[in-house]
Amino acid sequence: MTFPARVVLATRNGKKLQELQRLLESLGITSEVLSLESFPDFTDDIAETAPDFEGNALIKATAVAAATGLPAIADDSGLCVDALNGMPGVLSARWSAQRDDHSNLELVLAQTADVPAERRGAAFVAAVAYVDGEGEPIVVRGQMRGHLLTQPRGSHGFGYDPIFQPVGYESSNAELSPQDKDAISHRGQALRALVEQLAQRID
Ligand code: IMP
Repeated sequence: MTFPARVVLATRNGKKLQELQRLLESLGITSEVLSLESFPDFTDDIAETAPDFEGNALIKATAVAAATGLPAIADDSGLCVDALNGMPGVLSARWSAQRDDHSNLELVLAQTADVPAERRGAAFVAAVAYVDGEGEPIVVRGQMRGHLLTQPRGSHGFGYDPIFQPVGYESSNAELSPQDKDAISHRGQALRALVEQLAQRID
């Protein structure tokens, strides 16, 4: 089996949609990728109740495939900080009371203010699930290691990008171009693994 001609990405986030389209194009895949914006009747806020990224990605992909009748891809991702025992992890999007990117980032910076350079290790993790209602679901994981900066740097990307410096780079994620980030990102790795697994599937 190859990649389906039409697929829904379980998000309303235009940046995530563009990211998947960019990644598929870079792999020579020309599928039409829809987002939930194309399904105005699908208003369910899917509860991300699983304790891990894989479980949440699977919950979302299953719900969206059932509601739309199309193959669905969902991701769940977050920042895991070593000095915070892997938190915010699956709580990354709702870490602060305000639940916005800026407040979440400021809270992590405050919580790690006293952590010395040698203990500032962190990882972005993403699980991506694919459900088409026919074959077994596929769930894959990608990870990008790096360390936490003490001050935000750069204006690209979103979320915790300005305070994360990937291993082997002098720039923060928010100082990388979208294409350079895709090449090393947790979601990029997971999506490439998904495409590989789909390619190996026999009809
Ligand atoms: P999700 O949309 O439920 O997967 O939430 C992921 C949250 O983790 C986002 O709100 C961001 O705060 C954070 N996150 C995940 N991936 C990235 C990334 O690539 N850069 C920066 N923050 C990210």
